[in-house]
Amino acid sequence: MSAFSNAMRQLELAATAMHLDAYTLERLRHPQRIVEVDFPVKLDDGATKLLHGYRVQWNDARGPFKGGLRFHPQTDLDEVKALSFWMSIKCAVVNIPFGGGKGGVTVNPKELSKTELESLARSFTRAIADVIGPEKDVPAPDVNTTPQIMDWLADEYGKIVGKPSPAVVTGKTLDHGGSEGRGTATGQGAYYVFEAFSRKLGWDPESTTVAVQGFGNAGQEIARLFHHHGYKVVAVSDSQGGVHNEAGLDIPELIKQKAQTGHVVRLPESRDITNEELLTLPCGVLVPSALENTLTAQNVDQVKASVVLEVANGPTTPEADLALAKRGVTVIPDVLANAGGVTTSFLEWQQNMTNEHWSETQVFERLKPIMDDSSEGVLSTAEKYAVTYREAAFILALERLDKAIRKIA
Ligand code: NAD
Repeated sequence: MSAFSNAMRQLELAATAMHLDAYTLERLRHPQRIVEVDFPVKLDDGATKLLHGYRVQWNDARGPFKGGLRFHPQTDLDEVKALSFWMSIKCAVVNIPFGGGKGGVTVNPKELSKTELESLARSFTRAIADVIGPEKDVPAPDVNTTPQIMDWLADEYGKIVGKPSPAVVTGKTLDHGGSEGRGTATGQGAYYVFEAFSRKLGWDPESTTVAVQGFGNAGQEIARLFHHHGYKVVAVSDSQGGVHNEAGLDIPELIKQKAQTGHVVRLPESRDITNEELLTLPCGVLVPSALENTLTAQNVDQVKASVVLEVANGPTTPEADLALAKRGVTVIPDVLANAGGVTTSFLEWQQNMTNEHWSETQVFERLKPIMDDSSEGVLSTAEKYAVTYREAAFILALERLDKAIRKIA
């Protein structure tokens, strides 16, 4: 299953439904630039290891390339291309003045010490320094990359250009120009989107259960918010397996356990389950918050949820998407559902560029209307074109991208 071919199928579907201009479509089928680098990392035992990394710059017609950086053993060019393309769509869905980009390094960061990780982050920054910059391309955290790693990137970049340049990356720690609220923004944004859909489609906390796959930055926050707002979160999983309790899990307790032990399994008064089982549990809302290709032709028939809130990027293959649509399952697409992350990155970038620091309340006061308006836009586009919410999000984004691309063609 190629994430990139899935992304391209999504593009073709929406382009056909809206009769997208042929040049714009061709432009969006290809990245503007692919940077592929081999770079050295100093290991603690004195050896040097060569790693392989990517920065794919999809489109900057609407503003600087923008998108996360992923450290993962399975990361390859196909994945980074898909994620980079999706960032172009996502930034246009929420109408922020950024284009799309993404980076990745093929590595298992869990096998590295902190000093090795720092060497990796700094060396990768040197390898891609020519193509990034506050007004060129602005990386951010993604899977396995933390605020600390973003600080190292910004610091290394500042040394290269000879001046502090915090706006070169977002998702930094607060001490190094990060924004209040960025750590929880993806989950928070997803919850605003869910609420906007819920206002329209009517889901009741009392009777709606939730299952969350992936319990990292994004998954923990969305689980915490559902729990906080009175929904019963009945199952959660991470890469080591999951836990289930029909009566609802104590999410704050589970977050503490995950921080202490690194896993969610073996939680008192709950049953251990596999990741596959989590996807097929009876529940109202299924929230994939881990990696791509989670809901596929192989398992989609067993999915019992009536809503899929895509906090992860690319969790549903086109075949699974079609099957869910046929069954009337509401899929709230990734390019809208997880766009709170990049939107708050934009707010962090704005603060860095203007030397301001906003409180969390000020940040979320700006985030919420953007997520509300974008959700409204997707809901009304779906009605106008009689298409799924994913196609609607793509159409909304493609209309905006088309204007920008044709202006500079
Ligand atoms: P993270 O590294 O903090 O967490 C990933 C989680 O997924 C971990 O708990 C890991 O154990 C779990 N996981 C990995 N493989 C799994 C599997 N097979 N089954 C179940 N769980 C598994 O990453 P994150 O930042 O939370 O990102 C998660 C997803 O959200 C990714 O698709 C990412 O692209 C997307 N996303 C993140 C942000 C952000 O701001 N962090 C923004 C937009 C989208």
